[in-house]
Amino acid sequence: MQRTIAVLPGDGIGPEVMKEALRVLEVVADKFGHEFRINEGVAGGAAYEKYGAHLPQETLDVCKASDAILFGSVGGPINEMHLPKWVDCERNSILTLRKTFNFAVNLRPAKVYKGMEGICPLKAEVLEKGVDMLIVRELLGDAYFGRHERGERNGIRFAQDESEYTEDQVRTAAHAGFKAARLRGKRLTSVDKANVLTASRLWREVVKEVSSEYPDVQLEDMLVDNCAMQLIRDPGQFDVIVTSNMFGDILSDAAAALPGSLGLCASASMNDSGFGLYEPPGGSAQDIAGKGIANPIAQILSAALLLRYSFGLEQEARAIEDAVEAALKAGYRTSDIKRTTSDTKSKDEEKLVGTVEMTNAILVELEKLTASVKKKEAVAAK
Ligand code: NAD
Repeated sequence: MQRTIAVLPGDGIGPEVMKEALRVLEVVADKFGHEFRINEGVAGGAAYEKYGAHLPQETLDVCKASDAILFGSVGGPINEMHLPKWVDCERNSILTLRKTFNFAVNLRPAKVYKGMEGICPLKAEVLEKGVDMLIVRELLGDAYFGRHERGERNGIRFAQDESEYTEDQVRTAAHAGFKAARLRGKRLTSVDKANVLTASRLWREVVKEVSSEYPDVQLEDMLVDNCAMQLIRDPGQFDVIVTSNMFGDILSDAAAALPGSLGLCASASMNDSGFGLYEPPGGSAQDIAGKGIANPIAQILSAALLLRYSFGLEQEARAIEDAVEAALKAGYRTSDIKRTTSDTKSKDEEKLVGTVEMTNAILVELEKLTASVKKKEAVAAK
């Protein structure tokens, strides 16, 4: 397969971790016989320096000429936020991309890797079933896009944010949820507040209608307050969750705490024609930029999501994810995921590494995994 990827490394640790993700993509292309052409563009402070804008037309043109976007992260150090280079940097970059490409859903996996339970904030017994879920969040509707009003009536200040959903918006999110569930455990939990909100009642109705096209996927409805509780009480019960913009915003951040570090989380935003932007949900981590200690896993997992959802390369995506899991199992840790508990036995089994060494460990595992796949294929072909 030949595909072009727009690569926007951004600021801070963005370029450091992007370099590592590209090394992984290069190996995947080589092992599986693909050609991924890299079309690099600037975003954030890096773009401001060159073009005086956080997301210039030149960068949009790079994205438009590509099959998917791999994004790093943008933004400046906290004490420089007032400088023109950084004012509204994140908003200008991300919102311009969202608006231009009409990204309708966001996908956020949350997984507690084997051997990494110690950095999950939940108790070991809650994690026994394993935690491996995906949250699909609608992005274009809800109170974020309705009419916002602020005023005063009879001397009393009021504020109002209108929340609206159309059936088309719900349908797009529902299809994304069902399709994602098909690629995983075939279970979808649709989260709403249908006991109170009219928009949620429409949500539930439309998700149910769409479910008839996916008879192989088991659908359940859950109220958002219960879902928030279940994410903490029993997160292992979830496979795919699909939900509206605001509930998804909150639930996906709650779920992002489960892996134990932002450095282990990836995210995808997609429009209804399958064009997507893939990025770590964390920021540019200016506090550690240039030190060679950033965790590259979030960026590498974002590249895996790109292969799965934009290019349909499930085997390749899984190979990357399995290689990450194997490197973690072998004890490799960047500083953000190193345990600080008094469990000295497991601490001793951990090897503290930097950005490049972590990727090297992942590439070693990728090599082993692809060699064993090739061997199995050769045996099957005989
Ligand atoms: P941040 O996510 O950059 O960092 C929060 C903490 O997590 C820091 O201690 C950082 O060192 C750590 N961290 C994040 N990613 C890491 C990784 N891969 N490996 C190891 N540690 C990691 O949040 P912040 O410090 O509040 O923001 C820094 C800048 O990033 C700000 O300018 C902010 O606006 C921007 N930002 C951008 C995005 C984006 O590009 N999508 C998202 C959030 C914040």
